[in-house]
Amino acid sequence: MNCTEFLAKLTDYFDGQIDPALLAEVKQHLGTCHHCEVVVDTTRKTIDVYRGAETYELPEELSNRLRAAVMERCRISGKLPDIAVKTTK
Ligand SMILES: [Zn+2]
Repeated sequence: MNCTEFLAKLTDYFDGQIDPALLAEVKQHLGTCHHCEVVVDTTRKTIDVYRGAETYELPEELSNRLRAAVMERCRISGKLPDIAVKTTK
């Protein structure tokens, strides 16, 4: 699993709607990728805030921002080819 695949599964991961086999891959990726670990941490905190406000859903704008941020970081660290960033929008 790479960062792109991980981000595609991020919503499922937080929804708890993820296949156990995929969950294992997600956890493995988190163990090796600091960028995605930060994204998960930030998203979890955000969800907690929204839960406190009794609004559960993660705003699309926020998840897009997170995605863009992690893509940019991965690109800078050379983990992703430029093409992967350009096609993400
Ligand atoms: Zn990653």
